[in-house]
Amino acid sequence: MLVLSASRILRRRLGPQQAPAHPSSTHPWARRCPGASIVGTTRQQARREGYLEEFLRFWQANADTRLIWVSMYTPQRGEVSAERLTAADRRRVIEELRRLRGVTPKLGVTEAALRVYAKPPASPAECTFARTTECVSADLERRIVPCQFGGDPDCANCGCLASAGLEAIARHRLPGGIRVGRIFEASLRAGRAVGRLRKAG
Ligand code: SF4
Repeated sequence: MLVLSASRILRRRLGPQQAPAHPSSTHPWARRCPGASIVGTTRQQARREGYLEEFLRFWQANADTRLIWVSMYTPQRGEVSAERLTAADRRRVIEELRRLRGVTPKLGVTEAALRVYAKPPASPAECTFARTTECVSADLERRIVPCQFGGDPDCANCGCLASAGLEAIARHRLPGGIRVGRIFEASLRAGRAVGRLRKAG
């Protein structure tokens, strides 16, 4: 399977002047999701008037696109960079996505995930994604911790849609009021206990 970044395909079709810019070459999740167009929004994109709408409209009309994901740039704690979104940029992207959901059927983001974008997990220890997934380097040599971003990620500014989606599920309350996250946590505790028993045996 060949995955090209959104910007490369757009530039090829529209020419460099017209194509909405894409910040990175190939989003890692795109390799796992054939038919998905994924944009990682940086501050530059968030501040460009009409950028998201233009991007979504283009990929909505593309017959080969099944799903469009929009993530936001996730900085490290204390990072000072041109890509980092301010709180106001972030609110604007969330509001734009909320508005565009209604007119972009291929946009894969739920209202619950948008609420997580507005209030992400406070730390890796509270992040369902970080606690339930194993991340390894591309050469399979190293574990990436505490989550796919590695290092000391700034959870308050997390823009990972996969993380937001999983957290939205964890925050969902089942009939009777039990949070799905409670079930995750019980399952993790049981898994750890079994692991300890196996080691001891
Ligand atoms: S996925 Fe996001 S919220 Fe979860 S640990 Fe990483 S940066 Fe924090």
